[in-house]
Amino acid sequence: MTTAARQWVYFFGAGSADGGSELRNLLGGKGANVAEMARLGIPVPPGFTLTTDVCNHFMLHNGAYPEGLSESVEAGLERLQSITGKRFGDADNPLLVSVRSGARVSMPGMMDTVLNLGLNDVTVKGLAARTNNPRFAFDSYRRFIQMYGDVVMGVHSSRFEQVLREARGVAGVADDAHLPAADLEKLVAKYRALVREVTDTDFPQDPQAQLWGAIAAVFHSWNSPRAISYREMNGYPNDWGTAVNVQAMVFGNMGDDCATGVAFTRDPSSGEKRFCGDYLVNAQGEDVVAGIRTPVSVNGTPDSLEKKMPALYAELVSTADRLEHHYHDVQDIEFTIESGRLWLLQTRSAKRTGRAAVRCAVEMVRENLIDTRTAVRRVSPEQVDQLLHPTIDAGKAPSPIAIGLPASPGAASGKIVFHVERAVALAKDGVAVVLVRSETSPEDIDGMRVARAILTSTGGMASHAALVARGMGKCCVVGCGDVEVDYAKREMRAHGISYPELTEITVEGSTGNVYPGVIPTVQAELDHDFEQFMQWVDAARRLRVRANADTPEDARTARKFGAEGIGLCRTEHMFFREDRIDWVRRMILADSREARIAALEKILPMQREDFEGVFRAMANLPVNIRLLDPPLHEFVPSEPAEIQALAKRIQVDAAVLTSKVRLLHEFNPMLGHRGCRLGITFPEIYEVQVRAIMEAAVAVSREGITVKPEIMVPLVGLRSELSLLREMIVRVADGVMAEDGHRVHYSVGTMIEVPRAALVAAEIAEVSDFFSFGTNDLTQMTFGFSRDDSPKFLRAYLDTHVLANDPFETIDVDGVGALVRMATEQGRAARPDLKVGVCGEHGGDPASVYFFHQVGLDYVSCSPFRVPVARVAAAHAAL
Ligand code: PEP
Ligand code: MG
Repeated sequence: MTTAARQWVYFFGAGSADGGSELRNLLGGKGANVAEMARLGIPVPPGFTLTTDVCNHFMLHNGAYPEGLSESVEAGLERLQSITGKRFGDADNPLLVSVRSGARVSMPGMMDTVLNLGLNDVTVKGLAARTNNPRFAFDSYRRFIQMYGDVVMGVHSSRFEQVLREARGVAGVADDAHLPAADLEKLVAKYRALVREVTDTDFPQDPQAQLWGAIAAVFHSWNSPRAISYREMNGYPNDWGTAVNVQAMVFGNMGDDCATGVAFTRDPSSGEKRFCGDYLVNAQGEDVVAGIRTPVSVNGTPDSLEKKMPALYAELVSTADRLEHHYHDVQDIEFTIESGRLWLLQTRSAKRTGRAAVRCAVEMVRENLIDTRTAVRRVSPEQVDQLLHPTIDAGKAPSPIAIGLPASPGAASGKIVFHVERAVALAKDGVAVVLVRSETSPEDIDGMRVARAILTSTGGMASHAALVARGMGKCCVVGCGDVEVDYAKREMRAHGISYPELTEITVEGSTGNVYPGVIPTVQAELDHDFEQFMQWVDAARRLRVRANADTPEDARTARKFGAEGIGLCRTEHMFFREDRIDWVRRMILADSREARIAALEKILPMQREDFEGVFRAMANLPVNIRLLDPPLHEFVPSEPAEIQALAKRIQVDAAVLTSKVRLLHEFNPMLGHRGCRLGITFPEIYEVQVRAIMEAAVAVSREGITVKPEIMVPLVGLRSELSLLREMIVRVADGVMAEDGHRVHYSVGTMIEVPRAALVAAEIAEVSDFFSFGTNDLTQMTFGFSRDDSPKFLRAYLDTHVLANDPFETIDVDGVGALVRMATEQGRAARPDLKVGVCGEHGGDPASVYFFHQVGLDYVSCSPFRVPVARVAAAHAAL
């Protein structure tokens, strides 16, 4: 198709539409859904959508529009005019439009909305005369100047708010809705003067110029720093582009038979099947979400829509229900009532908490709305993570200092900060902060991201703060009217008490409570719905999920979270326990093999006991135990005072001890005397460990419990390293079983964490029953980025887009991932029954789990709390 023949503009309205849900990528979510509603015969104001292709063209051609666009927009306006009977720019009966952005997924940071476009000094009079409502006309005009001035002309909305506040003060009214028409007319003049003062240009009077200015602003906002940062955070490509929706205005601010609001078909916080939402009488949509006026619930209160306008409420509920059945998902809808008539402005799948996601998915399967595979897809790994978030230990909570709306679950403590820059700076220094604002806006995103919790004094459950926090899985309380924020004094006040910046508070997003000080938290209980959901998850996935667990207790936790074995038991962690660390130090500092063995003999029974506990907790499941890995200096103190104290405890000369400690020093310990290199230089260490593992395995097996030990050698790079150690391991293991007379099946394998091991995987597989990718070290050594020191420069790499992701968090598919793929293929070619897994941190990272699924690994292993997250990620990968 030639460029000229392409359809750049899609019309919708009056019961029909050029497109619909199937064109989501082209029309954006908002455009596709509003078109779909038009097709369904649901009352939506007519309008048209400029496609995402227009955006991409605009970006590629330096802000130039494709040929034919202006004619198509003109044709769209013509159709709007003939449907509404109004004319754009007409002095008597002006057509007003809204201009809104809409990418294929909802994306904060872009220009949101300009309402009432088409008003100017002439048309405002026509509107006033025709509606016989000058107050409404001037209110619409001043809103238009404010929104357009802010998002298109760059006059910050706080400047307008200041002028508005002054006007309220002069008139002696508390609420904008009570400003009389004459005052609003004066306000318009002041707004225009403000625009002139700040921008040195006049507010545009030509409706065509207004329209094209707004369209360009939407496209430019696609590349605003906030939008870019949001896309990066979510991995959305830049070439998706945004659509622009131009839609005839309907008015919620024409009088007391008008209203506007947002509603959800189910509670987005709890998932309960209950229609809910917020609305305002005599207001425009922005008032509800901007958090400037605190909205009222649509039902359940005397002021609710249900009570004030029962017939319209009933129509709204049944329309919402129809939309939920049409989309088979929870809907978040925007509506306006104009002079007793209901209009839907938008519907989209509702952002929801993890708890709500699971409950809705499970209940919708029961209601036959969706199948179990769809249910699995409905809950993201991140939402499952959120479910595992802590809550306040009920017994430990004092009385709250303030109570607001429970916008997003979890509980967190931190120091109060009021400004985003301050929050970011303090968080960089590791300070836990709670961001407290009267309301938030998209430019607060960085502060919200670094905060442990978010608290706002205004705004409803659909306010910016609530939606964004929920999406981030961050604990958040909004609409907390008890709290008054004083930015100038950097303090908040609640019930007559002031809380200056840096005061510690605890925010509980599940109840809306705000507490003084730091309150201990507990882990959430996982309910029956969750179990049901996870059964569907498990049925959908292929990849097994194990846990990294070092103690019997961790193993039990891991099992509770559904771990199917242990993928990595780091034996060194057992060495650090108080009752044994000094024996480990004696072993390390020993002069002779005999002295080392004597110390090891003390350690053996303790390790055996640990292993027994782990085997019992993991009955019937594989337990992968890694032999000692870290450089030995990590176990001994380095401070002179500590060395003195140790010398005293283990009764050696302090000077001798000091020089021994010094001998352990290495310039580059991560590339030094560690891993299998220890096993080769001090075989007795590994011998004792293998003995402890096998004695424990035999003992637990004798209890009738099936044990499946896997003995793993770390840091192998050469086949000969592993073959030498394998011989030793088999000799000791078989010796233990021969002594005891009881046999258990065990396997011996290696970590693949040195790049050389990945390169010669076929050779290594000949002497290895399994591979476990240690992607932490493999990333470190493949990039040559120190695991410990790289944060110092990685930040700059991320900021300058040298790297898209932190490779220690999400697997570097092209480099480290290529080694994983190659080693897996070559290892399996050499030994078809080779078991292959991953036990680096990447095993719990959803994006990495997708990759490991694709490569065909047998399992991933991650920390116990991430196990459910990895299970869901594995299911999503399989679906
Ligand atoms: C790894 O390197 O990925 C690994 C699991 O081992 P450790 O983190 O203990 O070095
Ligand atoms: Mg390692």
